[in-house]
Amino acid sequence: TITSSKQAIELEDKYGAHNYHPLPVVLAKGEGVFLWDVEGKRYYDFLSAYSAVNQGHCHPRIKDALIEQASTLTLTSRAFHNDVLGPFEKYITEYFGFDKVLPMNTGAEGVETAIKIARKWGYEKKGVDENRAKIVVVENNFHGRTTTIISFSSDENARKNFGPYTAGFVKIPYDDIYALKTVLEDPEVVAFLVEPIQGEAGVYVPADDYIKEAKAACNAKNVLFIADEIQTGIARTGSLLAVCGNCTCEKSCEQQVTYTKPDMLILGKAISGGFYPVSAVLADNHVMEVIKPGQHGSTFGGNPLGAKVAIAALEVVSDENLAQNARRLGEIFRDRMQALVDKYEIVKLVRGKGLLNAVVINDSEESSTAWDICVALKDNGLLAKPTHGNIIRFAPPLVMTEEQIHECCDIIENTINAF
Ligand code: PLP
Repeated sequence: TITSSKQAIELEDKYGAHNYHPLPVVLAKGEGVFLWDVEGKRYYDFLSAYSAVNQGHCHPRIKDALIEQASTLTLTSRAFHNDVLGPFEKYITEYFGFDKVLPMNTGAEGVETAIKIARKWGYEKKGVDENRAKIVVVENNFHGRTTTIISFSSDENARKNFGPYTAGFVKIPYDDIYALKTVLEDPEVVAFLVEPIQGEAGVYVPADDYIKEAKAACNAKNVLFIADEIQTGIARTGSLLAVCGNCTCEKSCEQQVTYTKPDMLILGKAISGGFYPVSAVLADNHVMEVIKPGQHGSTFGGNPLGAKVAIAALEVVSDENLAQNARRLGEIFRDRMQALVDKYEIVKLVRGKGLLNAVVINDSEESSTAWDICVALKDNGLLAKPTHGNIIRFAPPLVMTEEQIHECCDIIENTINAF
């Protein structure tokens, strides 16, 4: 058993692949917005496992669902039916307003699934010549780590020496509707894959009408609009989905003027509240029907344990009004951070939506200032992580209270003040 953080870090260093560079903190317990390290020190979590624990750590309702299902039936594979999959599929499709769902496990698998469906749709429905289909993606995208997905990444570190790369992707600038319209002139384009707000890139929120216009431009050219909401979805940005725009209702609905319905919606992370890997691709029948038996799947995808957990996790989102809370607290957070921008030279800007926010530190990407600030924040009881060197992402669980967010802003201000 682990008795000190030092011991745990040494073990990871010696026996684990060095594919991450974690903050030097070893966590042993979580509850709601809090985490505790091995030595018992308590922290506010401002990463939420990259937005997978929107419902807060170890949410009792999701935990109960997990334990109950784990004691009953966990995995059948899809060789047989199970009695949770159907109810889950009905629940999630009605929740998000689509005809059908294809359940997988990780986010990257969800993205791979959407890519396969889009290509097949392109050949069988749109009539593109075999092996010619192109999918449009944007610069600085993040969609996961598989060989195909990193093939269209702009991050050299994510790509270098992992080739040969998968062909069939065209990259355009983000938030540039003209670039999109230009590339859509190519009749071999079958889909546009985009994050409605770019998360890993450093929380880039596009122009208000970008998503709506992008969908309309895709429609006009018979191209599928695919929203990757693995990080932005499930109430994180102050609405159920980022494509809901400014609507805070807990169901996505076409009546809302700000809502843009994607042709395919990819979800992951918080769809299971951090308990169990569940991802999903949602689409209407005319798209999903191109997938026939034997053409795609996964041993664990759609298993009863994940399905039960996901239902509970989604119930928590609507019953606890997490979208509205994220919106309200997000405004408080950005107001308080804007005050820091005005006061301290080192804080360059704050941006974000709901509780997905980033503070940009006035230093180069290569400098260690943002990292040093995160280490100091840790010492002061708040966990956040830099992305791209000089950007700090702040994304707490959505179950936070107003009093807590103010306390956290105080911690951030006091920490910055010491730099
Ligand atoms: N897509 C987006 C937008 C993400 O933010 C992520 C993870 O950060 C992924 C896909 C990949 O998800 P996973 O790490 O579960 O494969």
